Amino acid sequence: MNIEKDRVVAIHYKLTDDQGAVIDSSEGHGPLTYLHGAQGIIPGLEKALEGHAPGDSLEVTVQPEEAYGEVNPEMIQQVPRAAMAGIDNLAPGMALQADDGSGNVHHVVVKEVGEEMVTIDANHPLAGQVLHFDVTVDSVREATPEEIAHGHVH
Ligand SMILES: [Zn+2]
Repeated sequence: MNIEKDRVVAIHYKLTDDQGAVIDSSEGHGPLTYLHGAQGIIPGLEKALEGHAPGDSLEVTVQPEEAYGEVNPEMIQQVPRAAMAGIDNLAPGMALQADDGSGNVHHVVVKEVGEEMVTIDANHPLAGQVLHFDVTVDSVREATPEEIAHGHVH
């Protein structure tokens, strides 16, 4: 059975960045399962898998616009250091969860820590990155009507 819309697909994958460093992998936790055509995985990878069948292996390079998007400069902001007084060992690279006051939690990464101001980045950690996937299709099956209605795999 080939991969097409409204089928449940299981893939083994390894994701590396442009420098060849492994970002993520299905190794050790079994295949990733998703509903094809429901935006469950990044568009560039979904497109490349279309029509493939179990046992197929492919190498896919995905540009940022078909992955996590370009870095949005507006999502890099400076906040007063005083606003982060409760955080110990504030340092570049630290991941924080910021509450915007209306119940939304944003994941941000500290970029710079200055005397007065701290620069935080709310872009997806993989924004702006070219991604390389090594993928092997494990299985393909028809989705149930309920899965199609929900837009995800049960
Ligand atoms: Zn559901």
